[in-house]
Amino acid sequence: MAKRDYYEVLGVQKGASSDEIKKAYRKLAVANHPDKNPGDSAAEERFKEASEAYEILSNEQKRQAYDQYGFAGVDAGGAQDYSNVYRDFSDLFGGGGLGDIFGSFFGGGGGRSQGGRRGPSVGSSLRYDVEISFKDAVFGTKVEISFAHHVHCSTCSGSGVKSGSGKKMCPTCNGTGQVRRNSGFFSIASTCPTCQGEGHIVENPCDDCHGSGLKRKQQKVKVTIPPGVDTGNRISLSGMGDAGPNGGPSGDLYVYVNVKPHKYFERSGNDLYCQIPISFTQASLGATIEVMTIDDVRVKVAIPSGTQNGKVLRLRGKGVPLLRSSSDQRGDQYIKLVVETPKKLNKEAKKLMAQLAQVMGENEKPEPVPFTQ
Ligand SMILES: [Zn+2]
Ligand SMILES: [Zn+2]
Repeated sequence: MAKRDYYEVLGVQKGASSDEIKKAYRKLAVANHPDKNPGDSAAEERFKEASEAYEILSNEQKRQAYDQYGFAGVDAGGAQDYSNVYRDFSDLFGGGGLGDIFGSFFGGGGGRSQGGRRGPSVGSSLRYDVEISFKDAVFGTKVEISFAHHVHCSTCSGSGVKSGSGKKMCPTCNGTGQVRRNSGFFSIASTCPTCQGEGHIVENPCDDCHGSGLKRKQQKVKVTIPPGVDTGNRISLSGMGDAGPNGGPSGDLYVYVNVKPHKYFERSGNDLYCQIPISFTQASLGATIEVMTIDDVRVKVAIPSGTQNGKVLRLRGKGVPLLRSSSDQRGDQYIKLVVETPKKLNKEAKKLMAQLAQVMGENEKPEPVPFTQ
């Protein structure tokens, strides 16, 4: 069967924003998720197709390659496993209501059940929020974080079984991992309460982890924050999440960055903005001033004579470095010149000002202009 175009799969335009792509995928994922459509292979196919499309189109680099070279650009069609693409739904659903719905779909972050019984599955991914200064976001930094996660119990290697003993089939569910209960016309399947869906129980649990196979461990990690990050960016630490149940692999740790505001710089993309007050005479006659940059270095800026209040000048390359770029390209710094009217004049200045007014002549009947101008 020919593969469908990824944009077509998600039902979005080729130029769709990442938000539109996320929304489209969310809708398809909710409607077609296998846990919600048991036994419906068409729905499962649609789910996989949508997940694959989302995997590519949600990644800027992969999307670019796909746009340019099609499937050849993203090496699709191979045996890729998308069974775990829905692990980090906190990202896709941004907390809030839908996340809760998914929490119950996905049975707390484990892999999808196979015929009701759970084998080893990937552990939960974890989120950690760090707050860094504006300048650290621009130039990058290292942050040491301390967090607790689950690791495999070293005594039983994550099996939960005491050495020398084994597991036996769960007598409640006869190894299926599910129990059925009749409710009116319906028969409702639910996870077996005795074995928690595993299909077997541990006869002699490991003394160290009480049979869970997992132990909580406090961990300290140095996280490298690359130059150019902004609020909402995340750094993935592969395998630093919770260890998987039944000896399964660990999830990832996502470090979300939150940037504190700067005293005077504002940021938009890779450009920086600030205002610079200049005097009425500097604006009239022209001048050279020294303006502070985010590098804590002052650069000389020429103000042309006759500069009006609100004029914006650009300092090329004095902005924020491009995130994860090998070039040392940076955005620009924009300065808005604010012409200040002197509030207090000494005797001498007052005299000169009056003289100036006389020489220049004052317009006593100025013509109105629109308010918004
Ligand atoms: Zn153990
Ligand atoms: Zn059971």
